[in-house]
Amino acid sequence: MPDKIAMTTPVVEMDGDEMTRVLWKWIKEILIEPYVDLKTEYYDLGLPERDRTDDKVTVDAAMATKKYGVAVKCATITPNAQRVEEYHLKQMWKSPNGTVRRILDGTVFRAPIIVKGITPYVPTWKQPIVLARHAYGDIYNSVESRVEEGGAAYLVVCDKEGKEVSRKLIQNFKGDGIVQGVHNLDKSIENFAVTCFNYALEHKIPMWFGAKDTISKIYDHRFKDIFNEIYERDYKDKFEKAGIYFMYTLIDDIVARIMRSEGGVLWVCKNYDGDVMSDMVATAYGSLGMMSSVLVSPDGNYEYEAAHGTVTRHYYKYLKGEETSTNSVATIWAWTGALAKRGELDGNKELTAFAKKLEKATIDTIEEGKMTGDLIPLFRAEGVTPVKLNSKQFLQAIAEKL
Ligand code: NAP
Ligand code: MG
Repeated sequence: MPDKIAMTTPVVEMDGDEMTRVLWKWIKEILIEPYVDLKTEYYDLGLPERDRTDDKVTVDAAMATKKYGVAVKCATITPNAQRVEEYHLKQMWKSPNGTVRRILDGTVFRAPIIVKGITPYVPTWKQPIVLARHAYGDIYNSVESRVEEGGAAYLVVCDKEGKEVSRKLIQNFKGDGIVQGVHNLDKSIENFAVTCFNYALEHKIPMWFGAKDTISKIYDHRFKDIFNEIYERDYKDKFEKAGIYFMYTLIDDIVARIMRSEGGVLWVCKNYDGDVMSDMVATAYGSLGMMSSVLVSPDGNYEYEAAHGTVTRHYYKYLKGEETSTNSVATIWAWTGALAKRGELDGNKELTAFAKKLEKATIDTIEEGKMTGDLIPLFRAEGVTPVKLNSKQFLQAIAEKL
């Protein structure tokens, strides 16, 4: 066996829960460690360890990501009441992804992994549509009230000293109703814009952003203005040199354009639009197991992961000794994303090349008809009869190709 590929700087490794924790170990053993002298700084974000450390391990892992710049994360359980009982937790710990996102102040980019034979529900979508969702404010930090008939609601703004600077009537209620207050911050919108412009440049894809500035003349208009200002000032030349462009238009127009596009664009969404549209895009491309995800911070730290969860239902089967056929592609992409980025930052061409070879071996394996059960009903290719492999067999088939 030839020498393994060396690494100079570690990637931050965040282990996780349930079926994805099982896949995690196998991916390393079968697809990475035989070829790479893997250097990681390991953090166990599995629920028992988060509980034992009062969730300190999650914060430590995020801080390590700031230090090293590249992390790879396994899916983790976000506990609810049922999990508190199942794992005898000290408390209902917060979502680790939320914690990491807060510390890195990052934007999540989700991109489908495209394979010949798996046709999206929208047949014109030939290239991935990458979706970026703003992860701050709007209805996710809103206050709401019920209002009774005859009542009134006002929007009151005060200055630093608490002195009222404006008061606008929202509505005199002629019947029982509802009211909602939302906000956002210039700084957060600016960070979001910069991270998106950098992503589009790095991947050389055009960037589309839509909001509703014709209706929301101050709120959504602020998003439009910030994006346009930053684009004109800092990115226009770079985009032109890279042969890409930025387009702002109304969200309705963007939705229509997306539907008839060939893909190959970065679709930038406000918080709510991103929440809703990411599920539509993921479903349209086939399987949750084929959706990759990366958290990028405005100062250039990267955390790669699969977009799906810990696949609990498969894990319970696995625990009973039953056969599982869980798709590991998105988790493999988390590793290849992190290794390729590590190689790029360190000038380690061999490492980046290895990551690309592993991706190609994975795609080739599926295109030859070897896949996990979730893909079987979606797969159609002339002359190829798809064969369902179990979780481990699929990884072994990729290793053979590799
Ligand atoms: P999930 O783990 O994404 O699984 C939902 C269903 O989607 C599965 O039961 C399975 O369908 C299918 N699926 C998802 N990924 C698959 C894969 N790789 N291969 C094959 N099928 C796949 O979502 P969930 O069941 O709602 O959540 C489970 C746990 O994950 C929860 O504790 C949640 O907190 C956590 N979670 C974590 C993250 C994260 O860390 N980023 C994200 C989401 C959820 P079938 O059962 O029909 O085969
Ligand atoms: Mg959603």
